[in-house]
Amino acid sequence: MSDSDASTPASSPNGRANAVARPPGAQIRRRAGGSQAPKPNSSRAAGAGGSSGTMLKLYTDDSPGLRVDPYVVLILSLAFIGSIFFLHISAKLIRVFTKPPRVTQATTIMSGYIYCANAPAVANAALVLASSPFLIIDCEGKNLGAADGVLSLMCIGTANAEHIFVFDVLALRSRNALSQLRLVLDLLADPTVKKIMWDCRNDFLEITATYGVFLQGVLDLQLAEIDSRASVRGEKEWKRTVRLAARGRRLPLSLIKQNPDLFSGVHSLQGMDACIKEARLLTTGKDPQVVAMHKTNGSMIWLDRPLLPRLLHYAAHDIEMIGALYEHFKSQSWITPVNEDALVDKSMRYAHSLYHQGRVAEDDVFGSSSLLPLDVLGEPRGLTVPCQGCNRMQSLHCFTTNRRGRKIVARTNICRVCQIKLLIKQVDHPVSWVNVTTYESR
Ligand SMILES: [Zn+2]
Repeated sequence: MSDSDASTPASSPNGRANAVARPPGAQIRRRAGGSQAPKPNSSRAAGAGGSSGTMLKLYTDDSPGLRVDPYVVLILSLAFIGSIFFLHISAKLIRVFTKPPRVTQATTIMSGYIYCANAPAVANAALVLASSPFLIIDCEGKNLGAADGVLSLMCIGTANAEHIFVFDVLALRSRNALSQLRLVLDLLADPTVKKIMWDCRNDFLEITATYGVFLQGVLDLQLAEIDSRASVRGEKEWKRTVRLAARGRRLPLSLIKQNPDLFSGVHSLQGMDACIKEARLLTTGKDPQVVAMHKTNGSMIWLDRPLLPRLLHYAAHDIEMIGALYEHFKSQSWITPVNEDALVDKSMRYAHSLYHQGRVAEDDVFGSSSLLPLDVLGEPRGLTVPCQGCNRMQSLHCFTTNRRGRKIVARTNICRVCQIKLLIKQVDHPVSWVNVTTYESR
């Protein structure tokens, strides 16, 4: 600032031309107008405790201000906006790569479990389980449901997973232990005692193979989730096909759309972890370290003794997750007192869906898959005929059919779900026609 600038005349015949020619500081001073008298340029010059007018001139009118190039302002603005985006993205990434707060909370609410490896522990567990309004069941073992399957742990919880008992099947082989375990097995076979499970198919096979006991009164949450898609959540057909094509099943959407008859009524299954994430439940998913151990060493880890505490915890935590999902499903009206009995009927069909096939090799193309078998959500209609893939007796509509007019004259030798399994696993397998007699086509 200079005194000569401060004394520049305020009036000009061509204000616009002057405004363009002068620097920004000069414009400000010009608009201020007023006195032409020299002004003090410091508080000392204005006198100690100078008047307010003097102070204003000192800090506003006479100050040249901060001269900032517009481009600098633009760049700073963009930098500010960029920093906001950066912080937002950083927060997302940090959330992805670190455990969310709910992990800590879920760890603290872990109710614990009781490891049952002898007769007295089993007797005590049987008493507690018998008083529960329903049971939560999940099993662990080597290749459950496969021909070489071995049941290792049978985890059973009471309502809300308040008590969790982990039965060591390999340790409970003495006559005394088995006689106590019979009390628990009687509960499993009692149709009036409801059992909450997640994908009961392989557990059903293993418990049957190990103890000769058929589970009764099962309510499978994996099936209940599918049942709710259309009936409660109002999902349309397009969503069903999108679900079928999702998760790398090697089923392009175009293939599904081009073969509507083949995929009609076929639903994809959802995993427990995915369901927990979707529901945003206040519980952790499966222990990633145990999942990694599975990938590295296979399910043989369940046959080691003594079992690592981490594995026992993993097995017990499944009961907690199933219990939490059951409460969530009820809160969402996916399971209600009205539809619960029907869901049990459907779940029992689901439980038996692999039974006719029995325990097959782990890599059997017609073994369990990520698809819900047909004739499970709905009861079989009319005549049922066997599938040469999964060996299940199913209604004719579960097969690809050949009609003459309205009359079905032939069907494929394997059901539609088995045909889709071939597509998913990219296996060549002969699919042939089987004549349907006049009687069968009714
Ligand atoms: Zn089949």
